[in-house]
Amino acid sequence: MKIDVLSLFPEFIDGFINWSMIGKAVNGKKVEISNINIRDFSENKHNKVDGYPFGGGPGMVMAPGPILRAINSVKTSNSKVIYLSPQGSILNQRKSKELSKEDHIILLCGHYEGIDNRIIENYIDEEISIGDFVLTGGELPAMVLMDSIIRLLPGVLSSEESFKDESHYNGLLEHPQYTRPREFEGFRVPDVLLSGDHKKIEEWKKEKSLKTTLTKRPDLIEKETLNKKEKEILKNIKNSLK
Ligand code: SAM
Repeated sequence: MKIDVLSLFPEFIDGFINWSMIGKAVNGKKVEISNINIRDFSENKHNKVDGYPFGGGPGMVMAPGPILRAINSVKTSNSKVIYLSPQGSILNQRKSKELSKEDHIILLCGHYEGIDNRIIENYIDEEISIGDFVLTGGELPAMVLMDSIIRLLPGVLSSEESFKDESHYNGLLEHPQYTRPREFEGFRVPDVLLSGDHKKIEEWKKEKSLKTTLTKRPDLIEKETLNKKEKEILKNIKNSLK
């Protein structure tokens, strides 16, 4: 997969590209990330990339020319152009999974009051938000989106770190996790996890995953299509909570 990030502050993203698992994925050629400065596409003698909003209003708006030239400098016939925007549809694991199958993603980061709407209407395939709040720029959202996609690419996580059991992968939250010591400040790790009985451990994990989801995010349970066995476990959990 190739990802091109278009932004006015590429240095903000530089560190991310070399960081931890992302750095390993880049070095291992699982993903190629290019960090492109939209300012390099300004044709203004002062490298200006923004202007006052027509109709008045506070702040500055990123002008369409440099953005389109930056997009066109990397776009191919199979590119997906995404604008990180608080007006986009909210990112979730399903979307990250879908995007992890793309060959080429172009991430456009806005700044100031945002970008000229003609870019959004005519040159963007999708607007993605990372939540219902407003940030200063699209760089952090682009890094959030990249992180969630890259860890799903084949060979990026080792099998021990498999994402398939993690929260949201199958619509539920993950079961609780424990490590050494077995007893901490008088609090013990659940006995079943120390029993060595793999069948019982798997049943415990499924039950805890359902119970955690039911208590922390009941909205996810409503959306989830549970199988017969899971529905039965859920019914028992609900009865035990009455
Ligand atoms: N005036 C815009 C509005 O009200 O919709 C907000 C502009 S915001 C200050 C500047 C840039 O930050 C946006 O162009 C976008 O790229 C990015 N941004 C801010 N919040 C975001 C969010 N929740 N998700 C994704 N991108 C966001």
